Amino acid sequence: MEEVTEHVTQLGHPTESGVGWASLIENESSFVLVDPCFGWRVLSEEEDGSRSYTAQFEAMLDLLIAREKPVRWIFLTHSHIDRVENLEFINRSFTGYRGRKSTELLNYELIVHHNSPLRSRVARRIGARDEITLDGRAYVFIHTPGHSGHRDDVSLFLPEDKVLFCGDLCQPQGPSYEACDSVTPFQYFEFGDMAISSLERLLRLDFDFLKSASGATYRGAAGRSALEVTLQVLQRLDELARELVRENPRADSATICEWIYDTVCYERGFDAHRAYWRKTGHTVNGKTEYEVFDKPEIDNFVQKYRLS
Ligand SMILES: [Zn+2]
Repeated sequence: MEEVTEHVTQLGHPTESGVGWASLIENESSFVLVDPCFGWRVLSEEEDGSRSYTAQFEAMLDLLIAREKPVRWIFLTHSHIDRVENLEFINRSFTGYRGRKSTELLNYELIVHHNSPLRSRVARRIGARDEITLDGRAYVFIHTPGHSGHRDDVSLFLPEDKVLFCGDLCQPQGPSYEACDSVTPFQYFEFGDMAISSLERLLRLDFDFLKSASGATYRGAAGRSALEVTLQVLQRLDELARELVRENPRADSATICEWIYDTVCYERGFDAHRAYWRKTGHTVNGKTEYEVFDKPEIDNFVQKYRLS
């Protein structure tokens, strides 16, 4: 557990393989839990019925008990399974802790976007931009689509603490455009143009802390830089698609996508063996990683210029 600001606490740690990556925001008499993610479970059950749970989850419960405040709302930045799976655990397997009933500690309703497929326990649906006071604290929810296929991505800005939760929209895959040190050459997104305008919208906010859904906390200028690198990669994909479609009207889309992939991998200094392996190596349902992940994302931009 890590205190990000006076009112924001990070559960778990990015190195803990995603178990319990989640954040708590403290209000006057309640907490908001942001993206419960996955990995919480019952570890053991005693004869008297008392249970022990995953350490990060117990750490959160200990904090709720110490402050005598329940989780009153759970906010989801989007509905991808790796961000919401622990809801299932909370609803089905969590019966109580240290003599407290589950409803005393986690008596929650959901805050999600209008487009979210989630239906049960939804208290609020966010539109383009909603400024709401929850239990004494100002929350600014901003629709930032591009990453999720449901177009249900919402970012949350806390003006008082200057913390920005951006879900999975921030994926620079390295410290700069020219230094990609990730396992993929660019972020995962479903709608390229939307991701570009969402990133531009977030960069206009005055934040000091950036929280990505994968558990990272960027402090100071690092947050702005991470969003800028993510944006720069998308803009470069878009620029190459525009130029190559215009200059090569007879080339098919698959060929243009591969040219763009090779160019961006090279420009980013992405590991050459890994770049080749993504196109040729291990398969997901008979397809390469390039075909499953990279090509559809690039094709998103290519088709835009084919049609225009
Ligand atoms: Zn996601």
